[in-house]
Amino acid sequence: MAETIFSKIIRHELPADIVYEDDEVLAFRDINPQAPVHVLIVPKVVIATVNDIQPGQAELIGKMVLAAQKIAAAEGISDDGFRLVINCNQHGCQEVFHLHLHLIGGRQLHGLSAS
Ligand code: 5GP
Repeated sequence: MAETIFSKIIRHELPADIVYEDDEVLAFRDINPQAPVHVLIVPKVVIATVNDIQPGQAELIGKMVLAAQKIAAAEGISDDGFRLVINCNQHGCQEVFHLHLHLIGGRQLHGLSAS
């Protein structure tokens, strides 16, 4: 699968504000944050979109969510709450074709917009 800028961040070839890393998952702050906490959680293996997740990768996707849980706790936003979002393809406004989970919080969020 084609690499994106996230592969370079995963290999530490490009700078990023990394907040979590383990063998399978990396998380770093979004370069254009939409809230006081805006972290992208990515699998180290290249998966382009949600459409490309294989059944055997279910545990990996769970590890991304557990990483989000840990980061939310470290950022002090667990109790107030936060949002986890994965955009997919054109209608979902996906811009980077390396699967990523947005962790967004630190302020009151509003209802999901359909626009
Ligand atoms: P998408 O629209 O694909 O769900 O979200 C891609 C996200 O990646 C955007 O929120 C964008 O700000 C972020 N992003 C794009 N390029 C970079 C980069 O080079 N570094 C970081 N930290 N975030 C990036």
